Amino acid sequence: MENGLLSVGEPMNEPLHDFAPGSPERNSLKEALKRIESEVVDIPMIIGGEALRNGDTGKVAMPHRHGHVLATYHKAAREDVERAVARALEARRLWEHTSWTDRAAVMLKIAELICGKYRDTLLAATMAGQSKNAYQAEIDAVAESADFLRFNVRYASAIYSEQPKSGEASLNRVEYRPLEGFVYAVTPFNFTAIASNLVLAPALMGNVVLWKPATNSLLSSYYLMKIYEEAGLPAGVVNFLPGSGAVVSDVVLRSPALAGVHFTGSTEVFSTLWKGVAENLRSYRSYPRLVGETGGKNFIVVHPSANVRAAVTAIVRGAFEYQGQKCSAVSRCYIPSSLRAPVLETLRETLSGMAMGRPDDFRNFVNAVIDESSFDNCMRYIERVKQSSEAEILFGGGGDKSSGYFVEPTVIETKNPRSLTMSEEIFGPVLTLYFYKDEEYEHMLTLCDETSPYGLTGAVFATDREALRRATTRLKYAAGNFYINDKPTGAVVGKQPFGGSRASGTNDKAGSMLNLLRWTSPRTIKENLQPPERYEYPFMKEA
Ligand code: NAD
Repeated sequence: MENGLLSVGEPMNEPLHDFAPGSPERNSLKEALKRIESEVVDIPMIIGGEALRNGDTGKVAMPHRHGHVLATYHKAAREDVERAVARALEARRLWEHTSWTDRAAVMLKIAELICGKYRDTLLAATMAGQSKNAYQAEIDAVAESADFLRFNVRYASAIYSEQPKSGEASLNRVEYRPLEGFVYAVTPFNFTAIASNLVLAPALMGNVVLWKPATNSLLSSYYLMKIYEEAGLPAGVVNFLPGSGAVVSDVVLRSPALAGVHFTGSTEVFSTLWKGVAENLRSYRSYPRLVGETGGKNFIVVHPSANVRAAVTAIVRGAFEYQGQKCSAVSRCYIPSSLRAPVLETLRETLSGMAMGRPDDFRNFVNAVIDESSFDNCMRYIERVKQSSEAEILFGGGGDKSSGYFVEPTVIETKNPRSLTMSEEIFGPVLTLYFYKDEEYEHMLTLCDETSPYGLTGAVFATDREALRRATTRLKYAAGNFYINDKPTGAVVGKQPFGGSRASGTNDKAGSMLNLLRWTSPRTIKENLQPPERYEYPFMKEA
Protein backbone atom coordinates (compact mmCIF):
# COMPACT_ATOMS: atom_id res chain seq x y z
CA MET A 1 0.00 0.00 0.00
CA GLU A 2 1.34 3.42 -0.93
CA ASN A 3 1.76 5.94 1.87
CA GLY A 4 2.64 9.04 -0.14
CA LEU A 5 -0.02 11.69 -0.66
CA LEU A 6 -0.34 12.66 -4.31
CA SER A 7 0.39 16.36 -4.76
CA VAL A 8 -1.29 17.77 -7.86
CA GLY A 9 -0.13 21.12 -9.23
CA GLU A 10 -2.29 23.80 -10.85
CA PRO A 11 -3.13 22.48 -14.34
CA MET A 12 -2.82 24.49 -17.54
CA ASN A 13 -5.62 24.73 -20.07
CA GLU A 14 -4.73 22.71 -23.17
CA PRO A 15 -3.33 25.12 -25.83
CA LEU A 16 -5.41 25.33 -29.02
CA HIS A 17 -4.20 24.67 -32.54
CA ASP A 18 -5.45 27.24 -35.05
CA PHE A 19 -5.18 25.04 -38.18
CA ALA A 20 -3.83 27.90 -40.29
CA PRO A 21 -3.12 26.99 -43.93
CA GLY A 22 0.15 25.07 -44.24
CA SER A 23 0.29 24.09 -40.55
CA PRO A 24 1.17 20.46 -39.79
CA GLU A 25 -1.98 20.16 -37.60
CA ARG A 26 -4.19 21.13 -40.52
CA ASN A 27 -2.59 18.58 -42.81
CA SER A 28 -2.78 15.71 -40.35
CA LEU A 29 -6.39 16.57 -39.47
CA LYS A 30 -7.35 16.51 -43.15
CA GLU A 31 -5.78 13.06 -43.42
CA ALA A 32 -7.73 11.85 -40.38
CA LEU A 33 -10.96 13.22 -41.88
CA LYS A 34 -10.34 11.28 -45.06
CA ARG A 35 -9.73 8.14 -43.03
CA ILE A 36 -12.85 8.54 -40.90
CA GLU A 37 -14.98 9.26 -43.95
CA SER A 38 -13.71 6.17 -45.77
CA GLU A 39 -14.75 3.78 -42.99
CA VAL A 40 -18.02 2.44 -41.61
CA VAL A 41 -17.31 1.58 -37.98
CA ASP A 42 -19.40 -1.15 -36.38
CA ILE A 43 -19.98 0.13 -32.85
CA PRO A 44 -20.71 -2.52 -30.22
CA MET A 45 -22.02 -2.16 -26.71
CA ILE A 46 -19.17 -2.46 -24.21
CA ILE A 47 -20.27 -4.17 -21.03
CA GLY A 48 -17.83 -5.33 -18.37
CA GLY A 49 -15.03 -4.83 -20.90
CA GLU A 50 -16.67 -7.09 -23.50
CA ALA A 51 -17.65 -5.78 -26.92
CA LEU A 52 -21.17 -7.11 -27.55
CA ARG A 53 -23.09 -7.11 -30.80
CA ASN A 54 -26.73 -8.26 -30.69
CA GLY A 55 -27.54 -7.55 -34.34
CA ASP A 56 -30.29 -5.03 -33.60
CA THR A 57 -28.55 -2.16 -35.36
CA GLY A 58 -29.01 1.49 -36.29
CA LYS A 59 -26.98 3.89 -38.42
CA VAL A 60 -25.02 7.05 -37.72
CA ALA A 61 -24.89 9.43 -40.69
CA MET A 62 -23.09 12.70 -41.35
CA PRO A 63 -25.38 15.67 -40.70
CA HIS A 64 -23.87 17.59 -43.64
CA ARG A 65 -24.16 14.64 -46.05
CA HIS A 66 -26.88 12.47 -44.63
CA GLY A 67 -26.53 9.79 -47.29
CA HIS A 68 -23.06 9.02 -45.94
CA VAL A 69 -23.11 6.43 -43.15
CA LEU A 70 -20.17 6.70 -40.74
CA ALA A 71 -21.09 3.90 -38.40
CA THR A 72 -23.58 1.25 -37.45
CA TYR A 73 -24.30 0.53 -33.80
CA HIS A 74 -25.91 -2.20 -31.75
CA LYS A 75 -28.82 -1.11 -29.59
CA ALA A 76 -28.85 -2.17 -25.97
CA ALA A 77 -31.87 -4.31 -25.08
CA ARG A 78 -33.28 -4.83 -21.58
CA GLU A 79 -31.11 -7.88 -20.91
CA ASP A 80 -27.99 -5.96 -21.98
CA VAL A 81 -28.78 -3.20 -19.52
CA GLU A 82 -29.42 -5.72 -16.75
CA ARG A 83 -26.07 -7.31 -17.53
CA ALA A 84 -24.40 -3.89 -17.46
CA VAL A 85 -25.83 -3.19 -13.99
CA ALA A 86 -24.45 -6.51 -12.73
CA ARG A 87 -21.02 -6.01 -14.31
CA ALA A 88 -20.78 -2.44 -13.03
CA LEU A 89 -21.52 -3.57 -9.48
CA GLU A 90 -18.88 -6.30 -9.77
CA ALA A 91 -16.32 -3.76 -11.02
CA ARG A 92 -17.26 -1.47 -8.15
CA ARG A 93 -15.69 -3.86 -5.63
CA LEU A 94 -12.30 -3.29 -7.19
CA TRP A 95 -12.63 0.35 -8.28
CA GLU A 96 -13.91 1.48 -4.89
CA HIS A 97 -10.69 0.23 -3.34
CA THR A 98 -8.40 1.41 -6.11
CA SER A 99 -6.17 4.10 -4.68
CA TRP A 100 -6.93 7.68 -5.54
CA THR A 101 -3.47 7.96 -7.08
CA ASP A 102 -4.25 5.15 -9.52
CA ARG A 103 -7.62 6.62 -10.41
CA ALA A 104 -6.01 10.01 -11.02
CA ALA A 105 -3.29 8.39 -13.11
CA VAL A 106 -5.87 6.76 -15.40
CA MET A 107 -7.67 10.09 -15.87
CA LEU A 108 -4.45 11.96 -16.64
CA LYS A 109 -3.43 9.23 -19.07
CA ILE A 110 -6.77 9.62 -20.86
CA ALA A 111 -6.06 13.36 -21.17
CA GLU A 112 -2.65 12.61 -22.68
CA LEU A 113 -4.13 10.19 -25.22
CA ILE A 114 -6.79 12.72 -26.20
CA CYS A 115 -4.24 15.49 -26.70
CA GLY A 116 -1.65 13.27 -28.35
CA LYS A 117 -2.13 9.92 -30.04
CA TYR A 118 -5.90 10.27 -30.64
CA ARG A 119 -6.14 14.03 -31.13
CA ASP A 120 -6.80 13.88 -34.87
CA THR A 121 -9.12 10.88 -34.63
CA LEU A 122 -11.29 12.51 -31.99
CA LEU A 123 -11.33 15.80 -33.88
CA ALA A 124 -12.22 14.13 -37.17
CA ALA A 125 -14.95 12.00 -35.54
CA THR A 126 -16.45 15.11 -33.95
CA MET A 127 -16.27 17.08 -37.20
CA ALA A 128 -17.69 14.33 -39.38
CA GLY A 129 -20.23 12.95 -36.90
CA GLN A 130 -21.44 16.14 -35.24
CA SER A 131 -20.79 18.61 -38.10
CA LYS A 132 -18.40 20.85 -36.20
CA ASN A 133 -15.75 22.99 -37.87
CA ALA A 134 -12.10 22.33 -37.03
CA TYR A 135 -11.73 25.10 -34.48
CA GLN A 136 -15.00 24.33 -32.67
CA ALA A 137 -14.01 20.65 -32.57
CA GLU A 138 -10.57 21.54 -31.19
CA ILE A 139 -12.09 23.66 -28.41
CA ASP A 140 -14.52 20.89 -27.54
CA ALA A 141 -13.23 17.39 -28.25
CA VAL A 142 -9.59 18.02 -27.40
CA ALA A 143 -9.13 21.05 -25.17
CA GLU A 144 -12.24 20.91 -23.01
CA SER A 145 -12.15 17.12 -22.69
CA ALA A 146 -8.56 17.26 -21.44
CA ASP A 147 -9.20 20.30 -19.24
CA PHE A 148 -12.08 18.56 -17.47
CA LEU A 149 -9.82 15.62 -16.66
CA ARG A 150 -6.79 17.59 -15.49
CA PHE A 151 -8.73 20.15 -13.47
CA ASN A 152 -10.97 17.52 -11.92
CA VAL A 153 -7.93 15.65 -10.64
CA ARG A 154 -6.83 18.90 -9.02
CA TYR A 155 -10.29 19.51 -7.51
CA ALA A 156 -10.55 15.94 -6.25
CA SER A 157 -7.22 16.29 -4.50
CA ALA A 158 -8.51 19.44 -2.82
CA ILE A 159 -11.69 17.65 -1.72
CA TYR A 160 -9.77 14.69 -0.30
CA SER A 161 -7.43 16.93 1.61
CA GLU A 162 -10.32 18.76 3.27
CA GLN A 163 -10.24 17.14 6.72
CA PRO A 164 -11.67 18.04 10.11
CA LYS A 165 -9.63 19.03 13.16
CA SER A 166 -8.42 16.42 15.58
CA GLY A 167 -7.17 16.81 19.14
CA GLU A 168 -8.44 16.45 22.73
CA ALA A 169 -7.60 12.77 22.58
CA SER A 170 -9.57 12.11 19.45
CA LEU A 171 -8.68 11.56 15.84
CA ASN A 172 -11.21 12.78 13.26
CA ARG A 173 -11.22 12.13 9.58
CA VAL A 174 -13.56 12.18 6.60
CA GLU A 175 -13.54 9.34 4.15
CA TYR A 176 -14.86 10.40 0.73
CA ARG A 177 -16.73 7.28 -0.29
CA PRO A 178 -18.05 6.72 -3.80
CA LEU A 179 -21.84 6.52 -3.93
CA GLU A 180 -23.26 3.17 -2.89
CA GLY A 181 -24.33 1.79 -6.27
CA PHE A 182 -23.78 3.00 -9.82
CA VAL A 183 -24.13 6.33 -11.63
CA TYR A 184 -26.20 6.64 -14.81
CA ALA A 185 -24.62 9.08 -17.29
CA VAL A 186 -26.83 10.24 -20.16
CA THR A 187 -24.97 12.45 -22.59
CA PRO A 188 -26.00 14.96 -25.31
CA PHE A 189 -24.87 15.07 -28.95
CA ASN A 190 -23.44 18.54 -28.98
CA PHE A 191 -20.22 18.33 -26.95
CA THR A 192 -17.72 15.48 -27.03
CA ALA A 193 -16.21 16.99 -23.88
CA ILE A 194 -19.53 16.83 -22.02
CA ALA A 195 -19.94 13.19 -23.02
CA SER A 196 -16.51 12.52 -21.56
CA ASN A 197 -16.97 14.54 -18.39
CA LEU A 198 -20.40 13.21 -17.42
CA VAL A 199 -18.91 9.73 -17.36
CA LEU A 200 -15.45 10.36 -15.97
CA ALA A 201 -16.19 12.89 -13.21
CA PRO A 202 -18.11 10.25 -11.20
CA ALA A 203 -15.53 7.57 -12.16
CA LEU A 204 -12.69 9.75 -10.84
CA MET A 205 -14.46 9.84 -7.46
CA GLY A 206 -14.51 6.02 -7.39
CA ASN A 207 -17.93 5.38 -8.92
CA VAL A 208 -18.90 2.91 -11.62
CA VAL A 209 -20.99 4.17 -14.51
CA LEU A 210 -23.60 3.08 -17.03
CA TRP A 211 -23.23 5.39 -20.03
CA LYS A 212 -26.08 6.07 -22.49
CA PRO A 213 -24.45 8.14 -25.25
CA ALA A 214 -26.48 10.23 -27.72
CA THR A 215 -26.96 8.39 -31.00
CA ASN A 216 -25.95 11.34 -33.18
CA SER A 217 -22.53 11.60 -31.56
CA LEU A 218 -21.85 7.87 -31.24
CA LEU A 219 -18.72 7.92 -33.34
CA SER A 220 -16.79 10.31 -31.08
CA SER A 221 -18.29 8.63 -27.99
CA TYR A 222 -17.05 5.23 -29.17
CA TYR A 223 -13.52 6.56 -29.70
CA LEU A 224 -13.64 8.03 -26.19
CA MET A 225 -14.60 4.62 -24.83
CA LYS A 226 -11.68 3.00 -26.69
CA ILE A 227 -9.34 5.63 -25.23
CA TYR A 228 -10.57 4.86 -21.70
CA GLU A 229 -9.79 1.19 -22.23
CA GLU A 230 -6.33 1.91 -23.61
CA ALA A 231 -5.58 4.20 -20.67
CA GLY A 232 -6.19 1.31 -18.29
CA LEU A 233 -9.67 2.01 -16.95
CA PRO A 234 -10.64 -1.39 -15.55
CA ALA A 235 -13.39 -3.38 -17.30
CA GLY A 236 -16.88 -2.60 -16.02
CA VAL A 237 -16.06 0.78 -14.48
CA VAL A 238 -17.71 2.41 -17.50
CA ASN A 239 -20.29 0.43 -19.48
CA PHE A 240 -21.20 1.77 -22.90
CA LEU A 241 -24.87 1.35 -23.88
CA PRO A 242 -25.87 2.85 -27.24
CA GLY A 243 -29.56 2.68 -28.09
CA SER A 244 -32.85 4.11 -26.98
CA GLY A 245 -32.76 6.31 -23.90
CA ALA A 246 -36.25 5.17 -22.95
CA VAL A 247 -35.32 1.44 -23.11
CA VAL A 248 -32.07 1.86 -21.16
CA SER A 249 -33.67 4.16 -18.59
CA ASP A 250 -36.57 1.83 -17.96
CA VAL A 251 -34.19 -0.81 -16.59
CA VAL A 252 -31.75 1.58 -14.94
CA LEU A 253 -34.35 3.60 -13.04
CA ARG A 254 -35.82 0.46 -11.51
CA SER A 255 -32.51 -0.78 -10.14
CA PRO A 256 -32.23 -0.44 -6.34
CA ALA A 257 -28.52 0.28 -6.91
CA LEU A 258 -29.10 3.50 -8.88
CA ALA A 259 -27.08 6.03 -6.89
CA GLY A 260 -26.95 9.02 -9.22
CA VAL A 261 -27.95 10.46 -12.57
CA HIS A 262 -25.49 12.66 -14.44
CA PHE A 263 -27.38 14.20 -17.33
CA THR A 264 -26.92 16.90 -19.92
CA GLY A 265 -29.55 17.43 -22.58
CA SER A 266 -33.01 18.86 -22.93
CA THR A 267 -35.13 20.04 -20.02
CA GLU A 268 -37.88 17.67 -21.14
CA VAL A 269 -35.76 14.51 -20.97
CA PHE A 270 -34.27 15.49 -17.62
CA SER A 271 -37.76 16.03 -16.22
CA THR A 272 -38.73 12.54 -17.47
CA LEU A 273 -35.71 11.03 -15.72
CA TRP A 274 -36.45 12.93 -12.49
CA LYS A 275 -40.04 11.73 -12.61
CA GLY A 276 -38.85 8.14 -13.18
CA VAL A 277 -36.61 8.40 -10.12
CA ALA A 278 -39.45 9.81 -8.05
CA GLU A 279 -41.72 6.94 -9.08
CA ASN A 280 -39.14 4.38 -7.96
CA LEU A 281 -37.94 6.27 -4.91
CA ARG A 282 -38.95 3.72 -2.30
CA SER A 283 -36.97 0.99 -4.01
CA TYR A 284 -33.55 2.67 -3.92
CA ARG A 285 -30.91 1.92 -1.32
CA SER A 286 -30.00 5.64 -1.15
CA TYR A 287 -31.60 8.80 -2.48
CA PRO A 288 -30.06 9.07 -5.96
CA ARG A 289 -28.10 12.25 -6.67
CA LEU A 290 -29.70 14.04 -9.62
CA VAL A 291 -27.45 16.34 -11.60
CA GLY A 292 -28.80 17.76 -14.83
CA GLU A 293 -27.66 20.58 -17.06
CA THR A 294 -30.42 21.32 -19.52
CA GLY A 295 -31.73 23.90 -21.98
CA GLY A 296 -31.28 27.63 -22.29
CA LYS A 297 -32.72 30.76 -23.87
CA ASN A 298 -29.64 32.85 -23.59
CA PHE A 299 -29.59 36.58 -24.03
CA ILE A 300 -27.46 39.56 -24.86
CA VAL A 301 -28.59 42.88 -23.46
CA VAL A 302 -27.12 45.91 -25.22
CA HIS A 303 -27.10 49.32 -23.53
CA PRO A 304 -27.02 52.57 -25.53
CA SER A 305 -23.45 53.13 -24.29
CA ALA A 306 -22.21 49.82 -25.78
CA ASN A 307 -19.41 49.38 -28.29
CA VAL A 308 -21.46 48.29 -31.29
CA ARG A 309 -18.78 46.26 -33.08
CA ALA A 310 -17.95 44.32 -29.93
CA ALA A 311 -21.63 43.66 -29.24
CA VAL A 312 -22.35 42.50 -32.80
CA THR A 313 -19.29 40.23 -32.87
CA ALA A 314 -20.49 38.62 -29.64
CA ILE A 315 -24.01 38.28 -31.03
CA VAL A 316 -22.81 36.62 -34.22
CA ARG A 317 -20.33 34.27 -32.58
CA GLY A 318 -22.68 33.54 -29.70
CA ALA A 319 -25.66 32.80 -31.95
CA PHE A 320 -24.13 31.06 -34.94
CA GLU A 321 -21.00 29.21 -33.88
CA TYR A 322 -21.78 25.50 -34.06
CA GLN A 323 -25.08 26.49 -35.69
CA GLY A 324 -26.48 27.74 -32.39
CA GLN A 325 -26.38 24.20 -30.98
CA LYS A 326 -24.59 25.14 -27.77
CA CYS A 327 -26.68 25.15 -24.65
CA SER A 328 -25.15 28.59 -24.06
CA ALA A 329 -25.91 29.92 -27.57
CA VAL A 330 -27.39 33.40 -27.82
CA SER A 331 -30.92 33.33 -29.14
CA ARG A 332 -32.50 36.61 -28.01
CA CYS A 333 -31.09 40.11 -27.96
CA TYR A 334 -32.36 43.36 -26.50
CA ILE A 335 -31.07 46.34 -28.46
CA PRO A 336 -31.74 50.03 -27.84
CA SER A 337 -33.62 51.79 -30.64
CA SER A 338 -30.89 54.43 -30.84
CA LEU A 339 -28.42 51.73 -31.97
CA ARG A 340 -30.75 50.09 -34.48
CA ALA A 341 -29.05 51.43 -37.62
CA PRO A 342 -25.40 50.72 -36.66
CA VAL A 343 -26.26 47.28 -35.19
CA LEU A 344 -28.16 46.20 -38.31
CA GLU A 345 -25.49 47.60 -40.60
CA THR A 346 -22.71 45.78 -38.73
CA LEU A 347 -24.76 42.58 -38.64
CA ARG A 348 -25.37 42.78 -42.40
CA GLU A 349 -21.68 43.35 -43.05
CA THR A 350 -20.69 40.42 -40.79
CA LEU A 351 -23.28 37.93 -42.02
CA SER A 352 -22.71 38.65 -45.69
CA GLY A 353 -19.21 37.15 -45.46
CA MET A 354 -20.23 34.07 -43.48
CA ALA A 355 -19.89 30.81 -45.39
CA MET A 356 -21.98 27.72 -44.70
CA GLY A 357 -21.19 24.15 -45.75
CA ARG A 358 -19.28 21.01 -44.86
CA PRO A 359 -16.78 21.11 -41.98
CA ASP A 360 -14.00 19.51 -44.04
CA ASP A 361 -14.01 22.66 -46.18
CA PHE A 362 -12.25 24.86 -43.64
CA ARG A 363 -13.63 28.11 -45.09
CA ASN A 364 -17.06 27.37 -43.63
CA PHE A 365 -17.99 29.06 -40.36
CA VAL A 366 -21.43 27.43 -40.23
CA ASN A 367 -22.06 23.72 -40.83
CA ALA A 368 -25.16 21.52 -40.70
CA VAL A 369 -27.60 21.11 -37.82
CA ILE A 370 -27.50 17.68 -36.26
CA ASP A 371 -30.42 15.83 -37.86
CA GLU A 372 -33.70 16.07 -39.69
CA SER A 373 -35.83 16.68 -36.64
CA SER A 374 -33.59 19.57 -35.63
CA PHE A 375 -33.75 20.96 -39.19
CA ASP A 376 -37.55 20.68 -39.25
CA ASN A 377 -37.82 22.26 -35.82
CA CYS A 378 -35.79 25.31 -36.90
CA MET A 379 -37.74 25.67 -40.13
CA ARG A 380 -41.06 25.45 -38.25
CA TYR A 381 -40.11 28.47 -36.13
CA ILE A 382 -38.93 30.33 -39.24
CA GLU A 383 -42.15 29.53 -41.12
CA ARG A 384 -44.24 30.79 -38.20
CA VAL A 385 -42.35 34.07 -38.29
CA LYS A 386 -42.95 34.33 -42.03
CA GLN A 387 -46.71 34.04 -41.32
CA SER A 388 -46.65 36.42 -38.37
CA SER A 389 -47.66 40.07 -38.39
CA GLU A 390 -45.56 40.91 -35.35
CA ALA A 391 -42.19 39.61 -36.57
CA GLU A 392 -40.09 39.59 -39.70
CA ILE A 393 -36.94 37.94 -40.95
CA LEU A 394 -34.07 40.39 -41.36
CA PHE A 395 -31.39 37.97 -42.54
CA GLY A 396 -31.40 34.34 -43.67
CA GLY A 397 -34.58 32.32 -43.24
CA GLY A 398 -33.69 29.66 -45.81
CA GLY A 399 -32.97 25.99 -45.34
CA ASP A 400 -32.05 23.02 -47.48
CA LYS A 401 -32.11 19.40 -46.37
CA SER A 402 -31.65 17.78 -49.76
CA SER A 403 -28.16 16.44 -49.04
CA GLY A 404 -27.32 17.85 -45.59
CA TYR A 405 -29.30 19.63 -42.88
CA PHE A 406 -28.41 23.25 -43.60
CA VAL A 407 -30.28 26.11 -41.96
CA GLU A 408 -29.12 29.60 -42.88
CA PRO A 409 -28.06 31.82 -39.98
CA THR A 410 -31.33 33.62 -39.41
CA VAL A 411 -32.06 36.91 -37.67
CA ILE A 412 -35.62 37.77 -36.75
CA GLU A 413 -36.95 41.09 -35.53
CA THR A 414 -39.98 40.91 -33.27
CA LYS A 415 -42.27 43.61 -31.97
CA ASN A 416 -43.48 41.26 -29.26
CA PRO A 417 -40.81 40.79 -26.59
CA ARG A 418 -42.64 37.71 -25.28
CA SER A 419 -43.03 35.96 -28.63
CA LEU A 420 -42.19 32.25 -28.96
CA THR A 421 -38.80 32.92 -30.53
CA MET A 422 -37.95 35.16 -27.54
CA SER A 423 -38.89 32.53 -24.98
CA GLU A 424 -38.51 28.96 -26.31
CA GLU A 425 -35.23 27.13 -26.89
CA ILE A 426 -34.83 26.47 -30.63
CA PHE A 427 -31.32 24.99 -30.57
CA GLY A 428 -30.35 26.10 -34.04
CA PRO A 429 -28.98 29.17 -35.86
CA VAL A 430 -32.07 31.29 -35.23
CA LEU A 431 -31.71 34.58 -33.38
CA THR A 432 -34.41 37.10 -32.45
CA LEU A 433 -33.84 40.81 -31.84
CA TYR A 434 -36.13 43.08 -29.88
CA PHE A 435 -35.53 46.83 -30.08
CA TYR A 436 -36.46 48.62 -26.85
CA LYS A 437 -36.85 52.33 -26.17
CA ASP A 438 -33.62 53.67 -24.70
CA GLU A 439 -35.40 55.19 -21.71
CA GLU A 440 -36.92 51.76 -20.85
CA TYR A 441 -33.65 50.03 -19.95
CA GLU A 442 -34.92 48.99 -16.51
CA HIS A 443 -38.19 47.68 -17.90
CA MET A 444 -36.28 45.76 -20.59
CA LEU A 445 -34.17 44.07 -17.88
CA THR A 446 -37.37 42.92 -16.18
CA LEU A 447 -38.66 41.59 -19.51
CA CYS A 448 -35.41 39.74 -20.08
CA ASP A 449 -35.58 38.20 -16.61
CA GLU A 450 -39.22 37.12 -16.89
CA THR A 451 -39.71 36.08 -20.52
CA SER A 452 -38.19 32.63 -20.53
CA PRO A 453 -38.24 29.80 -17.97
CA TYR A 454 -34.49 29.22 -18.38
CA GLY A 455 -31.52 30.60 -16.47
CA LEU A 456 -28.37 29.44 -18.22
CA THR A 457 -26.23 32.19 -19.79
CA GLY A 458 -26.52 35.86 -20.61
CA ALA A 459 -24.44 38.95 -21.29
CA VAL A 460 -24.60 42.70 -21.06
CA PHE A 461 -22.74 45.13 -23.30
CA ALA A 462 -22.22 48.69 -21.99
CA THR A 463 -19.46 51.14 -21.27
CA ASP A 464 -21.58 52.89 -18.64
CA ARG A 465 -20.66 51.36 -15.24
CA GLU A 466 -24.07 52.05 -13.73
CA ALA A 467 -25.80 50.26 -16.62
CA LEU A 468 -23.56 47.23 -16.06
CA ARG A 469 -24.28 47.26 -12.36
CA ARG A 470 -28.05 47.46 -12.89
CA ALA A 471 -28.05 44.58 -15.36
CA THR A 472 -25.84 42.45 -13.10
CA THR A 473 -28.19 43.05 -10.16
CA ARG A 474 -31.52 42.77 -11.95
CA LEU A 475 -30.51 39.63 -13.86
CA LYS A 476 -29.13 37.82 -10.81
CA TYR A 477 -31.16 34.64 -11.41
CA ALA A 478 -31.53 34.97 -15.19
CA ALA A 479 -28.19 33.27 -15.85
CA GLY A 480 -25.84 30.92 -14.03
CA ASN A 481 -23.04 32.18 -16.27
CA PHE A 482 -23.19 35.94 -16.75
CA TYR A 483 -20.78 37.87 -18.98
CA ILE A 484 -19.90 41.53 -19.10
CA ASN A 485 -18.83 42.81 -22.51
CA ASP A 486 -18.27 39.26 -23.74
CA LYS A 487 -20.26 36.59 -25.56
CA PRO A 488 -22.11 34.19 -23.24
CA THR A 489 -20.67 31.06 -24.88
CA GLY A 490 -17.25 29.46 -24.58
CA ALA A 491 -16.89 28.83 -20.85
CA VAL A 492 -13.41 27.53 -20.07
CA VAL A 493 -12.77 24.82 -17.47
CA GLY A 494 -10.99 26.25 -14.44
CA LYS A 495 -12.06 29.79 -15.36
CA GLN A 496 -15.84 29.90 -15.76
CA PRO A 497 -17.48 26.91 -14.00
CA PHE A 498 -20.58 26.18 -16.06
CA GLY A 499 -24.26 25.66 -15.31
CA GLY A 500 -27.60 27.34 -14.80
CA SER A 501 -30.69 27.08 -12.65
CA ARG A 502 -34.44 27.52 -13.18
CA ALA A 503 -35.38 25.25 -16.15
CA SER A 504 -31.69 25.08 -17.13
CA GLY A 505 -30.74 22.51 -14.55
CA THR A 506 -29.44 21.82 -11.08
CA ASN A 507 -26.51 24.24 -11.49
CA ASP A 508 -23.89 21.87 -10.18
CA LYS A 509 -21.22 23.62 -12.22
CA ALA A 510 -19.42 21.24 -14.54
CA GLY A 511 -15.67 21.69 -14.35
CA SER A 512 -15.59 22.63 -10.69
CA MET A 513 -15.27 21.10 -7.27
CA LEU A 514 -19.02 21.58 -6.78
CA ASN A 515 -19.79 18.94 -9.39
CA LEU A 516 -17.36 16.40 -7.95
CA LEU A 517 -18.91 16.79 -4.51
CA ARG A 518 -22.12 15.29 -5.90
CA TRP A 519 -20.31 12.02 -6.63
CA THR A 520 -19.05 11.35 -3.16
CA SER A 521 -20.80 10.37 0.04
CA PRO A 522 -18.54 11.40 2.91
CA ARG A 523 -18.22 9.28 6.02
CA THR A 524 -16.96 10.91 9.19
CA ILE A 525 -14.83 8.71 11.42
CA LYS A 526 -13.98 9.66 14.97
CA GLU A 527 -11.52 7.60 16.97
CA ASN A 528 -11.46 8.22 20.68
CA LEU A 529 -7.94 7.84 22.05
CA GLN A 530 -9.10 8.00 25.66
CA PRO A 531 -12.53 6.39 25.89
CA PRO A 532 -14.26 7.29 29.21
CA GLU A 533 -14.75 4.42 31.57
CA ARG A 534 -17.56 5.83 33.75
CA TYR A 535 -20.91 7.17 32.66
CA GLU A 536 -21.26 9.93 35.32
CA TYR A 537 -20.51 13.60 34.54
CA PRO A 538 -18.91 16.01 37.06
CA PHE A 539 -22.12 18.07 37.45
CA MET A 540 -23.79 15.05 38.98
CA LYS A 541 -21.58 15.14 42.11
CA GLU A 542 -22.85 16.65 45.40
CA ALA A 543 -21.09 19.97 46.15
P1 NAD B 1 -31.77 15.31 -25.63
O1 NAD B 1 -32.42 15.64 -24.35
O2 NAD B 1 -32.61 15.06 -26.82
O3 NAD B 1 -30.85 14.01 -25.46
C1 NAD B 1 -29.91 13.92 -24.41
C2 NAD B 1 -29.67 12.45 -24.10
O4 NAD B 1 -30.87 11.92 -23.53
C3 NAD B 1 -29.35 11.59 -25.32
O5 NAD B 1 -28.40 10.63 -24.97
C4 NAD B 1 -30.69 10.94 -25.62
O6 NAD B 1 -30.56 9.72 -26.30
C5 NAD B 1 -31.19 10.71 -24.21
N1 NAD B 1 -32.64 10.49 -24.11
C6 NAD B 1 -33.63 10.88 -24.94
N2 NAD B 1 -34.82 10.46 -24.46
C7 NAD B 1 -34.57 9.81 -23.31
C8 NAD B 1 -35.37 9.16 -22.33
N3 NAD B 1 -36.69 9.10 -22.44
N4 NAD B 1 -34.75 8.63 -21.26
C9 NAD B 1 -33.41 8.70 -21.12
N5 NAD B 1 -32.61 9.29 -22.02
C10 NAD B 1 -33.19 9.84 -23.08
O7 NAD B 1 -30.70 16.48 -25.91
P2 NAD B 1 -29.70 16.65 -27.13
O8 NAD B 1 -30.50 16.95 -28.36
O9 NAD B 1 -28.70 15.56 -27.19
O10 NAD B 1 -28.92 17.95 -26.67
C11 NAD B 1 -29.47 19.21 -26.80
C12 NAD B 1 -30.03 19.72 -25.50
O11 NAD B 1 -29.02 19.64 -24.51
C13 NAD B 1 -30.42 21.17 -25.55
O12 NAD B 1 -31.64 21.36 -24.86
C14 NAD B 1 -29.28 21.87 -24.84
O13 NAD B 1 -29.61 23.12 -24.28
C15 NAD B 1 -28.91 20.87 -23.82
N6 NAD B 1 -27.54 21.04 -23.34
C16 NAD B 1 -27.36 21.63 -22.12
C17 NAD B 1 -26.07 21.86 -21.65
C18 NAD B 1 -25.85 22.52 -20.31
O14 NAD B 1 -24.72 22.47 -19.82
N7 NAD B 1 -26.85 23.13 -19.72
C19 NAD B 1 -24.98 21.47 -22.42
C20 NAD B 1 -25.20 20.85 -23.65
C21 NAD B 1 -26.49 20.64 -24.10
